[in-house]
Amino acid sequence: MADMYDLVLVGTGFSSSFFLKEYLEHPSSKNKRILVLERGLMHSLKKRLQNKNGEISIDITQPRQTYISEADKPWVFDPNFGGSSNCWTGCTPRFMPNDFRMQSVYGVGTDWPVQYEELENYYVKAEKIMDISGPSDTPYPMSSPYPLPPSALSTVDKLLQKEYGELYISQPTARSTIPVNGRGACCSSAVCNLCPVDAKFTIENGFISLYEDLRVTLQYSCQVLSLETNGGMATGVIYRENGQEKTVKAETIVLGANALFNAHILLNSGDNNPWTGAGISEQTGIFGHFTYDGLENLGASSIISANGFMMYDGNHRSERPACLIESFNTPIIRNERGKWRQLSLFKFIFEDLPSEKNKVIRSDDPAKPEVIYQDHHSPYIQKGLDSLPGLIDKYFSFLPIENWHLDPSAQPTEYHICSTARMSNTKDQGTVDKHLVHHDFRNVLVLGSSSFPTVTPANPTLTLSALSIYAANHYLT
Ligand SMILES: Cc1cc2nc3c(=O)[nH]c(=O)nc-3n(C[C@H](O)[C@H](O)[C@H](O)COP(=O)(O)OP(=O)(O)OC[C@H]3O[C@@H](n4cnc5c(N)ncnc54)[C@H](O)[C@@H]3O)c2cc1C
Ligand code: SF4
Repeated sequence: MADMYDLVLVGTGFSSSFFLKEYLEHPSSKNKRILVLERGLMHSLKKRLQNKNGEISIDITQPRQTYISEADKPWVFDPNFGGSSNCWTGCTPRFMPNDFRMQSVYGVGTDWPVQYEELENYYVKAEKIMDISGPSDTPYPMSSPYPLPPSALSTVDKLLQKEYGELYISQPTARSTIPVNGRGACCSSAVCNLCPVDAKFTIENGFISLYEDLRVTLQYSCQVLSLETNGGMATGVIYRENGQEKTVKAETIVLGANALFNAHILLNSGDNNPWTGAGISEQTGIFGHFTYDGLENLGASSIISANGFMMYDGNHRSERPACLIESFNTPIIRNERGKWRQLSLFKFIFEDLPSEKNKVIRSDDPAKPEVIYQDHHSPYIQKGLDSLPGLIDKYFSFLPIENWHLDPSAQPTEYHICSTARMSNTKDQGTVDKHLVHHDFRNVLVLGSSSFPTVTPANPTLTLSALSIYAANHYLT
């Protein structure tokens, strides 16, 4: 007879952990039994730093062993305890209110069933938990200020802020500006995939106590393959441990395995909704290199010092995508005497609209999804890339620019995976409802950026964490 739990949670990344925190704090969970199945192992920061050139430092090709794809496009994540919180950079701008209503405002994409105003409180909660550093003026409305002071702008950032006000801000970030809760202050060492001073929020430094709670059993090296279902309910979880298939029964099942594996687990479980797996997507970013005549770019205090929103929201989105700007403070110099720091590095990041040509499907191996990726630069993104030179002239030409050029090609990845189990009001438009409950399996929640109906240019993790708190609150009331 398989063991029975009140809750089985899949994965230990942001999406699962923010849900688990809310669940454990709720009075109704006092006597609950929770099983967490994690496919990987715990590699602590200490161990990762000791092995920094060894087998547990993540590189862009490693996750390829976990999925099959003929496309060049890489999907990057850390399949271990804490998920990609171990290697993320910690950039946490909120989405803009219009990101949630692209169809009704701009006539493209889909409206989200949940709106910014409904998520606002949960943004505040997620920002408090992660001790986000950020400015007092932002392009999106905030009911509560950022918990920590903003990181310092560079001299070039300050000129851009003077010109564009709240459309050019110190980047909101989970890289703490002052020591907090055992984390060090970010010193811009720019190796955030293995932060030497533990400055950025991670599941290990922020949430380890959740997994030590006596109600929680955490099992490593357990890869969930599928759900056991009966009629409209899931009755259990089928997983592989040391090559052996096992089943565990559960009242409620919560998937937080990221957008590749959430969809794959559902497809393996007989979910035949055409939306499940369809539309795997992310943003497209391209670097721009600027040199200045006599303007030194100095003084920033974190790896990415600012976000520019000048090209983000507006009527252009009915034709071409929003673009978020990141101002990089990586240790680069100009190879000309006396002009070492008369330069800037900006990344221009465009939103995408998920394409049905890109999808996660089942392969012959039940442990590996296959990713079909045919639409690398959608026509929407391409219009953004084509318009970029003109936009740079429009917004940057007041600076004393000597020269600027874009990288010859866009970055292979922005390290985000979205939109394979989209939220929708009805099941003919997506996989989960507005509270992230599966449309068919009503005791299954599917968390994370798999639920995003559109892919805004802003980094996804703050929003997916807020969504986990929101989903847990709805589930618990
Ligand atoms: C290098 C890098 C930099 C990034 N920088 C940023 C940034 O600056 N800002 C930002 O917003 N986002 C950033 N991201 C993206 C961010 O890390 C992800 O959005 C976030 O980690 C997603 O959280 P998640 O919990 O949904 O998934 P994940 O972090 O992928 O966690 C999934 C968890 O599920 C486990 N799992 C997967 N499949 C199974 C299975 N079948 N059975 C059991 N367990 C399973 C995994 O081991 C892991 O624990 C970055 C990502 C990378 C790789
Ligand atoms: S810039 Fe350096 S100190 Fe700051 S979070 Fe990244 S690695 Fe850590």
